[in-house]
Amino acid sequence: MNAPLPAEVLKQHLIDPEICIRCNTCEETCPIKAITHDSNNYVVDPDICNGCMACVPPCPTGAIDNWRLMVRAEAYGVQEQLGWEELPGEKALPETAAALPADDVPAVTGLAAPAPFSAPGATVPPWSAAHPYVNLYTHKTPMTATVVGNYRVTGADTESDIHHIVLDFGELPFPVLEGQSIGILPPGLDAQGRPHHARQYSLASPRDGERAGYNNLSLTVKRVTEDHAGAAAHGVCSNYLCDLAKNDKVQVIGPFGHTFLMPNHPRANLIMICTGTGSAPMRAMTERYRRRIDTGENGRLLLFFGARTERELPYFGPLMKLPRDFIDINLALSRETGQPKRYVQDLIRERAASVRELLADRNTCIYVCGLKGMEVGVLDALRDVTVQGGQDWSILHDALRREGRLHFETY
Ligand code: NAP
Repeated sequence: MNAPLPAEVLKQHLIDPEICIRCNTCEETCPIKAITHDSNNYVVDPDICNGCMACVPPCPTGAIDNWRLMVRAEAYGVQEQLGWEELPGEKALPETAAALPADDVPAVTGLAAPAPFSAPGATVPPWSAAHPYVNLYTHKTPMTATVVGNYRVTGADTESDIHHIVLDFGELPFPVLEGQSIGILPPGLDAQGRPHHARQYSLASPRDGERAGYNNLSLTVKRVTEDHAGAAAHGVCSNYLCDLAKNDKVQVIGPFGHTFLMPNHPRANLIMICTGTGSAPMRAMTERYRRRIDTGENGRLLLFFGARTERELPYFGPLMKLPRDFIDINLALSRETGQPKRYVQDLIRERAASVRELLADRNTCIYVCGLKGMEVGVLDALRDVTVQGGQDWSILHDALRREGRLHFETY
């Protein structure tokens, strides 16, 4: 008669601190602000999370996809999770709770699933993308790479000190695809005396190596000397990388990313929209296409590239040498003397007819990489050119996301 009430069970959502690369994607994606972070960890608030899964597909490492059945009253709180160095093991549930059949365990309590598309871009890769490897090397088992090249790719007299850095993996496997990223573990300790977390950089080279057939890759790294507000700041990892010399050793983890991938089928078109160092994956994809230019299988390449000035645009020289019938290049310069300020979204509008033509082709994928602030502007521009063409943007936008044809990587 006086049997104890069954304890309420929660399927608690947790983030693995050993795999997480602190890229902020989950916090940005969460539609109900259940994810937060400090200088140590990214964590999920059990009082807010409704298990909607919106954050799970975009996570480049899969660190986000961890769950523990817990008695709700004993759920791990935000403060406790922020102090973790690793995930706790599974806890045995009390008999009253464990007696609940699995289907009765509420994955979420009380709240409905969100609208299907809360993110601006797709959470699936293009249908023909090659299968990526992820997390082959982790914080606990990093790979040691050797620096085989490090040189500046912006004008020496400009503020933008951007480096092209080539890392070689020797005999050890490090399989990558264009659009993926790696993590670099900078040496030394942070202000709390802990090893620095990994910093994420997109590959600037294609899958078969910076030098074709070699087991190496390249990164595009801007030396950080000020924060977003313009105050002086010393970027731990960017300064470390930009100062590396040939033959120095670097600790690398990854690769990461399973959605921002290029299509693999013949005659696929790419619209590439980037600012500054966000050009890294566009260089990788362009180089993939350039290396197979003679196959006749390439689709069209349409590039919108934003930088302050020509001399601050990474890879300006090599880019401008590419044949015009291979890639359609549109440069948006925002601080060029004697020229009006222009952003990539202005050029998308100027090239509306070409953009519309490519958007109408289901073989077209769109990639946006660079400053976070460009996201809204680019989406508005794509909407405007679509609407001008008499099409419904919301229908096209949903299709682009559903079919893995619109991808964002912005910070
Ligand atoms: P930046 O030099 O600060 O800016 C590049 C250009 O974008 C400038 O012309 C800038 O114009 C313009 N811009 C500013 N706000 C804009 C907006 N709302 N819409 C469109 N254009 C805008 O760029 P950066 O310092 O190289 O930064 C690139 C970003 O890419 C960083 O956030 C970085 O984290 C990210 N990223 C890097 C990698 C990598 O592997 N290295 C990979 C992915 C993403 P103004 O004259 O107005 O400043």
